[in-house]
Amino acid sequence: MDNYNTKDIVRKYGFKFTKSLGQNFLIDDSVLEDIVEGAEICKDDFVIEIGPGVGTLTRELLKKAKKVCAIELDSDLIPILQNELKDFDNFILINKDALKVDFNELIGEENSVKLVANLPYYVTTPIILKLLTGGYPFKSLTIMIQKEVAERIDAVPGGKDYGSLTLLVQYYCNTRIIRKVAPSSFIPQPKVESMVINLERLETPRVKVKDEKLFFDLIRDSFNMRRKTLSNALKNVKLSKEDITKAFEIAGIDPRRRGETLSIGEFARLADAIKDLQ
Ligand code: SAM
Repeated sequence: MDNYNTKDIVRKYGFKFTKSLGQNFLIDDSVLEDIVEGAEICKDDFVIEIGPGVGTLTRELLKKAKKVCAIELDSDLIPILQNELKDFDNFILINKDALKVDFNELIGEENSVKLVANLPYYVTTPIILKLLTGGYPFKSLTIMIQKEVAERIDAVPGGKDYGSLTLLVQYYCNTRIIRKVAPSSFIPQPKVESMVINLERLETPRVKVKDEKLFFDLIRDSFNMRRKTLSNALKNVKLSKEDITKAFEIAGIDPRRRGETLSIGEFARLADAIKDLQ
């Protein structure tokens, strides 16, 4: 890691942070190293970075990857990035909201695509949802997010963190926590702790279901009424009471259980049994 200092660049350009854009820039070299190492970037990789800031992480990615495409919403950062990273010929910069980017267009024919980002926390969940459900050919996402969100993603059945986000991410990915990051690793310091997590995309979803929409609706309904038993939480399912009982029987699941105790495989079995009876 060379002597490239976030604080110096911020000072040099008189950059003013915009809190509402989730601007907390990394100042800790050990975190940069762990993100790049955790993302397992190699010379074949086309890396997409969301929110490059002043380019601290971008520079490390540029040294390792074939190409880095960074998407930054704040126009004030564009000239800074262009100037600070002008020596790299493998850098593409896009001034846009990541939620509005057509990733298929960006990726084109590239076949080893990895996303790396210190995400702006105010849009973490919508960005993760877009990246995972959009059908894009990402091999992995290595992202810094709020600690609580990382714990929800990496949760196991039965615990307080286990919920629809856990199941959505685990449907598509293997998850691995890389490290915890303290507020003192950023300027300005965020109020919350952070975590770096790696989501490695599975070749096919973790479970095979007959109807994805029904599967995710069932999960959402089960967690919307956490305190209720499954049979009470499934009022939205378009089946008679008798058929709902039958679906539980076919799936081999006790209707008195709560949704938060079901594994992803059990949700899949129940969703398929409901589908068959509709
Ligand atoms: N990567 C830098 C670092 O680690 O120091 C900055 C990370 S900072 C947490 C998040 C960055 O995302 C900021 O540069 C912010 O301007 C940018 N950003 C915020 N909302 C965005 C959006 N919707 N699309 C793209 N970039 C966004």
